[in-house]
Amino acid sequence: MTQPIQRLAHLQTGTVDLHVQHVEGSPWNALLWIFLGRERIEGLPLSVFVIEHRDALILVDAGISPRVVTDPEFWPDPVTRAFMNNIFRFHVEPEDALGKQLSRAGYAPEDVDKAIITHLHFDHVGGIADIPNAELITSREAWEHMLGPHPEREAVLRRDIEIPGAKWRQIEYGLIEDATLKPFTHGHDLMGDGSILLLPTPGHLDGSSSVFLRVDPPILFVADLCYRTDLMIKERFPGTGEHDLLAESWARVRALKTRLPDLLIVPSHEEAAVARLLAHPLATVGHDRHANVEKKGGR
Ligand SMILES: [Zn+2]
Repeated sequence: MTQPIQRLAHLQTGTVDLHVQHVEGSPWNALLWIFLGRERIEGLPLSVFVIEHRDALILVDAGISPRVVTDPEFWPDPVTRAFMNNIFRFHVEPEDALGKQLSRAGYAPEDVDKAIITHLHFDHVGGIADIPNAELITSREAWEHMLGPHPEREAVLRRDIEIPGAKWRQIEYGLIEDATLKPFTHGHDLMGDGSILLLPTPGHLDGSSSVFLRVDPPILFVADLCYRTDLMIKERFPGTGEHDLLAESWARVRALKTRLPDLLIVPSHEEAAVARLLAHPLATVGHDRHANVEKKGGR
C-alpha cells in the first residue's frame, strides 16, 4: 500500500520580530534584553502546517489570532502586557487569520478533522475557533500545565483555549515499538498507521510535543523546541525555555537525525526551514494559492 500522507502545505498566520537574544541566547539576564534589547530578527513566520492524510485533513498548530494586534485587552493584566509587548513585535493582518489562510490555500476550514497543538502558547492556538469541527489534540502534560497558577504569565491564555464547542483531547504517550524512532521510546500514533507520531520534546514549555511524519524524506515538526535548526545542532540555547529539558530533547532530536540523516527538522518560526519543507516532494507550492486550488480542483 502506498504511504497514507498525500500532500503537505504551509500556512502563515502573520510574522513576528524577535529580539536576537530570544532566538540565539544571551549571557544577559532576560529582563535586560526584553526591555533594553534593540536588535531584532524580523519577519519570522507564525506557521501552521497542513497534512493531507488519506483519511483526514490534519493541521499542526492553529497559528495566531489577529486580535493580538487589534485587541488592547489581549493580554489580561498590565504586567503580562508590558512583558509581552516588549518580547514580541507582531505583523498580523485580519486576512492572516487561520480560516482565511485555509480558504486561500483551497481548503474549507470546516473540513479540518484534527489539529495537533504542539503546545498551548497563544501563537499556536489562535485559530481554533476557525476550525469548528476539528478534534484538538495536545499532550496531557501541556493541558495540566495550563491548569496551573497564572498560565498567562507564560503566554498561555485559557480564555482562548477553553472556548465553547472546542473538542479538546489530551493524549498520553505510550511505549512505541519502532526502532526507527530511537532514542524516542514513547509517543502517540495519531492515525494508528504509523504515519504521524507525536513525540514528547519538553523544554520550551511543559508538555511540548513534536510531530514526526513517516514520508520520504521524513519530517519532524519541532514547533518552538528551537528557533533555528543550526543553533540546535550546535547546542546554542535560545533565551527562553528550561535549559536542562531543552538539552535532553535536543539530544534526542540530534540522535534521531544521526539515525535518519535526511530527516527534515522544521521549527515553527524558522523561515529557512519552511523553505526546505516547501522543497519536499509532497509539499504544495508555499503561498502559490492559485496553483494549490487548481490542484485541489483537478482531483
Ligand atoms: Zn511557543
